Amino acid sequence: MMSAVFRKGGDVTFIVDELKAVFDPRGGYWQPGGKFMPSIIAELGHIVEKHLQFIGLLPHETLDEHQQQLIDAKRQEFEEQSRQQDAFSTSKFPEGAQLCGKCNVAAVVMMDGCMTCLNCGESKCG
Ligand SMILES: [Zn+2]
Repeated sequence: MMSAVFRKGGDVTFIVDELKAVFDPRGGYWQPGGKFMPSIIAELGHIVEKHLQFIGLLPHETLDEHQQQLIDAKRQEFEEQSRQQDAFSTSKFPEGAQLCGKCNVAAVVMMDGCMTCLNCGESKCG
């Protein structure tokens, strides 16, 4: 199916979102580093996305300097509030962080009354 789309030509970047939106009814799985994959098909989508970014068909999703500074500061603040107890944790994000609906990484923590993602900067205040 994928090669048919690529052979047809035109804008093929939509295939990334189509693949990433596939959820395995039996549940997804966690990758090292705390990223959640809803299915193997979705993982293919992520791989194709990386390739399309590499060859310049898709823009790289990067944070601007200000966003990155904000996340770094928030992260430091959070880690000082609750010193990491678990030295064996494989995740690079704090223990107890929740799954981010935007970037699929378990990096969402409560900061100043807002759920803030330490990976992509997504923030929801409630
Ligand atoms: Zn995120």
